[in-house]
Amino acid sequence: MIDFHCHIDLYPEPQKVIERVIREGMYVLAVTTTPRAWQGTNELVRTSRRIRVALGLHPELVSERHGEIELLCRLIPQARYIGEIGLDGSPQHRDHLALQQRVLEQILQACAKHGGRIMSVHSRGAVTALLNVLEAHPAAGTPVLHWFSGTIKELDRAVRAGCWFSVGSTMLRSQKGKILLERMPPDRVLTETDGPFIRKGAAPCMPWDVAETVQFLAHIWDESLEDASNAIRRNFRNLLTTDGL
Ligand code: MN
Repeated sequence: MIDFHCHIDLYPEPQKVIERVIREGMYVLAVTTTPRAWQGTNELVRTSRRIRVALGLHPELVSERHGEIELLCRLIPQARYIGEIGLDGSPQHRDHLALQQRVLEQILQACAKHGGRIMSVHSRGAVTALLNVLEAHPAAGTPVLHWFSGTIKELDRAVRAGCWFSVGSTMLRSQKGKILLERMPPDRVLTETDGPFIRKGAAPCMPWDVAETVQFLAHIWDESLEDASNAIRRNFRNLLTTDGL
């Protein structure tokens, strides 16, 4: 199983989550929300080679934390994965969209300078603006759009731009999410939870809850559970060849 977007450092007891992830033999991309969390999160997960840490600056934090962009750019040579980065155009963050764009451009330029990176990218309420920026920086690497919630037209454009998608349980619960999932190229889809921000009942969603998403994808792709889960693992391996590292 693969959870390609999880804030493992933000669970109340991350060590317990990590122990179970190791027991399950899962792969997890531990995204971070500020470059200051990079080192601590690396130390936290050092017992598992299957948990990789992504270096991030969350768009919702850019208005307060944009000063950390220099730290992020300095750390890029050490990071194979970048995220969570992106743009957020929802009402609380829309006012800072121009600043978010400048910060994102700087990050993408730095990624390009170092040969490209695999990036976990947030795009809520700003997919078109995000694609404008991504298309202007094709050498930045491979974007994996996390929790995509744009229109069909935006999805088609993202596919043409070479984007991948990490999809989670919230997409399974709406008709729109289902339509988007059906239209995504199956060879560019990975699973994610976005835990602990996403909840499952009263508790935060855990990395192993991706099992539910795999089941749903198997249904959409008209495949057995085993085939769907193999396809996702194959996608993950293919993604890792896209950055040339
Ligand atoms: Mn997230």
